[in-house]
Amino acid sequence: MASPATSRSLDRFAQGKLEDLEARSLRRRLIETDRYGPALARRAGRELISFCCNDYLNLSHRKEVKEAARAALERYGAGSGASRLVTGNHPLFRTLEKRLARLKETDDCVIFGSGYLANLGIVPALAREGDLVLADELSHACLLSGTKLSGAETRIFRHNDLDHLKTLLEEERAKHRHCLILTDGVFSMDGDLAPVEEMGELARAHDAWLMSDDAHGIGVLAGGKGSSFIGGRKADVPLQMGTLSKAIGSYGGYLCASQPVVDFIRTRARTLIYSTGLPPASVAASIAALDLIEADPAFAALPVKKAKAFTRALNLPEAESPIVPILMGDPDKTLAASALLEEEGFLVTAIRPPTVPEGTARLRFTFTAEHEDKDIERLTAIIRDKILIDRAAE
Ligand code: PMP
Repeated sequence: MASPATSRSLDRFAQGKLEDLEARSLRRRLIETDRYGPALARRAGRELISFCCNDYLNLSHRKEVKEAARAALERYGAGSGASRLVTGNHPLFRTLEKRLARLKETDDCVIFGSGYLANLGIVPALAREGDLVLADELSHACLLSGTKLSGAETRIFRHNDLDHLKTLLEEERAKHRHCLILTDGVFSMDGDLAPVEEMGELARAHDAWLMSDDAHGIGVLAGGKGSSFIGGRKADVPLQMGTLSKAIGSYGGYLCASQPVVDFIRTRARTLIYSTGLPPASVAASIAALDLIEADPAFAALPVKKAKAFTRALNLPEAESPIVPILMGDPDKTLAASALLEEEGFLVTAIRPPTVPEGTARLRFTFTAEHEDKDIERLTAIIRDKILIDRAAE
């Protein structure tokens, strides 16, 4: 047990850090949110329409999804009891892996405990010292954490800048054994898409491996197939990773890839081997969600359709995904705008550094299938009348 003196110095350390973050408006707090229905949340007793949830199709609340989860809970229990490599590999895993591989048009799929865990496991399994990782500067934190763990030499290319990626490949590729290129398919804080077709061509030309994190694309782009599908065709993205916690409405992460790659990841990814398998109810919920998405592509397209209507009405760059940022620049201004919207009955998060680069604090709106047009219209009117958008920062 820590001595009192040690714990005093630990407390002083934590307190000092908190005060510094507070002074810079960067302290984060966990606020209890009761998400009691599609696109609805209760905070501090107030009912709000939420524009900051990744449950893009509101499937976490769908009857069929909850029923599937309930049945799995009864049949297989509340937890899986061990790592999938020991005894935690209940039969629902195989069903879901086959369904995801079919959706993503790959040989196979492997499911992880979460999207974050997937990236922490996949990147170090594929790259290590002597290898090169090239990552988009706005790649999600977990891709970058996986890269750090890998020990590979890392170069960051400017956001969606194919010329910069090409230059780095020309300069660095030959000096390294293998090269892994990492990008989000849909960028989580900006909502724009990566040019995966062109990236795939560059990767092929330089014998590099392209991995796209499609956390925000699966379920809502290309009839649910995600951002690696363009014009109905699969781009050359051999490593399609994503999460089951957003449009799929459940929890977990996955990698869809060729058979040898999936088999290798199953035997080498530490976050798969040394972490307990997902609860059966979560896996069953994902399977039921995929049933609903695949049965109704027009439903899957609704979040992006609503996001596009919003950006058109506010004369913002047209939405490419369900995510729409409105740049405010300053963290305090962003917090004030978020508070104003909350007063008006809308829940919209203020996103601040270090989640986004300094000077780019923003309101981040996410659109879902069940947002009503009249609510989006009222939200739009309030933003137009009362919130000063930093157009220069866009
Ligand atoms: N990748 C991206 C692009 C994300 O936005 C997120 C979630 N915020 C993750 C990965 C992590 O997924 P999970 O929530 O399943 O851990």
